[in-house]
Amino acid sequence: MQNSIRVRFAPSPTGKLHLGSARTALFNWLFARGQDGTLILRIEDTDPERSKRSLEDSILDDLRWLGLDWDEGPDTCGAHGPYRQRERAETYRVHSQRLLGEGKAYPCYCTLEELEEKKRQAMAAGRTPIYDGTCRRLSEEERRGRELQGLKPAIRFRVPDHEIFFEDLLHGSMRFSPDVIGDFIIVRSDGSAGFNFSVVVDDATMGISHVIRGEDHLTNTARHVLLFEALGYAVPLYLHHSLLLGPDGSKMSKRHGATAVPDYREMGYLPQTLINYLALLSWSPPAEKEVLDKDELLRLFDIGDLSPSPAVFDKAKLDWLNSKHLHMAPLSELVRAAGRFAPEWSDNPHFPLMVESVLDNLVTLSDLPRYLAPFGPAEVPTEQVAHWVRSESGRAVVEKAIDILENRDLGGLEDAKQIIAEIKRDFMEKGLKAREVLMPVRVALTGKDKGPPLPYLLVVLGLEESISRLREL
Ligand code: GLU
Repeated sequence: MQNSIRVRFAPSPTGKLHLGSARTALFNWLFARGQDGTLILRIEDTDPERSKRSLEDSILDDLRWLGLDWDEGPDTCGAHGPYRQRERAETYRVHSQRLLGEGKAYPCYCTLEELEEKKRQAMAAGRTPIYDGTCRRLSEEERRGRELQGLKPAIRFRVPDHEIFFEDLLHGSMRFSPDVIGDFIIVRSDGSAGFNFSVVVDDATMGISHVIRGEDHLTNTARHVLLFEALGYAVPLYLHHSLLLGPDGSKMSKRHGATAVPDYREMGYLPQTLINYLALLSWSPPAEKEVLDKDELLRLFDIGDLSPSPAVFDKAKLDWLNSKHLHMAPLSELVRAAGRFAPEWSDNPHFPLMVESVLDNLVTLSDLPRYLAPFGPAEVPTEQVAHWVRSESGRAVVEKAIDILENRDLGGLEDAKQIIAEIKRDFMEKGLKAREVLMPVRVALTGKDKGPPLPYLLVVLGLEESISRLREL
């Protein structure tokens, strides 16, 4: 049974899903799923120039890839839709008319140029560039005069003259002076709703109980609280989590490297790694066990334990986590994900075995082609490795390997392990070191001195090919 906890993730489809936004989505998801609440996906596409449907699609696709699902959103039917802001113009209109009618908002005829000039002057004089209230003070007659001139007004919110207060679940009591806010635009002169206004009208009409978002929205929240109060709606609870920073302490951006979830997907990170990593950035799991799958995260995560300190991106830690998750994931799942990173191998019936054989080497799935290369055509050994098959003992090992293989079945990995163990035993009894036994076989099979464990090589190459490669030397 879902309760009255309703949270939302509200991406703007103006770019691919940023790691920082994915972190916000994750916190909302963990909170909603942990509390039997409802998660709403709202598309904030009010910027007509920069919002694109293709970007919306890619954000939804990446959220699904991360395993973050939602209960209401643009692709579901829900009682509080539509879930794209551009389809909600009528709701914004009704609410702005209400504020106008009650004198809590007023038409503003200032032109962009005038506003820019005032801003410039304020900044030159060292003042906070907030709206100077020119149109707040217009008489009815002055307004009519401007209407007659054909000026199209924006609608500005009349910021009340009292301190703004709200309780943040992470930062505690927050107070803002109205002097730093200034009357702000809620409807632009083209009739479209402004960012702050649409967010509040949506949060109110979608019944949002908790707003969980980044700290960069703290000042917006001061405006939002005023709007909730003016519209007569209950103010939701707020939690502003810390921002994701690059290693140099500035907001994580392209100059720190890849910032978008699909970039990491392309690079071969697993979704469970990203989820795990993003959660750890501001949260320490109890018992200090850091490698957690989604179910464990859900069980252990408590939004109240989030740290307010900035989260600094650490690629080395992400890599470490990915190698751990590569070992934890079921092989069938890995094989499905691995196909696109090694298309030249994915149709091979032994592909699962090949993936398994190189797991210890991988940091990401995009490392696969490099480590799977020894399964390909044998290379002519370089001078550095050729000595392994030229030495007397090396040649004896290879001869023996041919002899055993010619008289054996090679049904699977177990057979191959036994064959290798047998060769090893034989020569180690005669005083050779393990390396002196295994290297000649490896070099004879692949031309290299590094690669997947020998039993895997034997199975994937098959009996015939293995014997023929050994014979060639
Ligand atoms: N659309 C905003 C963003 O992408 C989020 C606004 C909000 O969470 O209130 O930053």
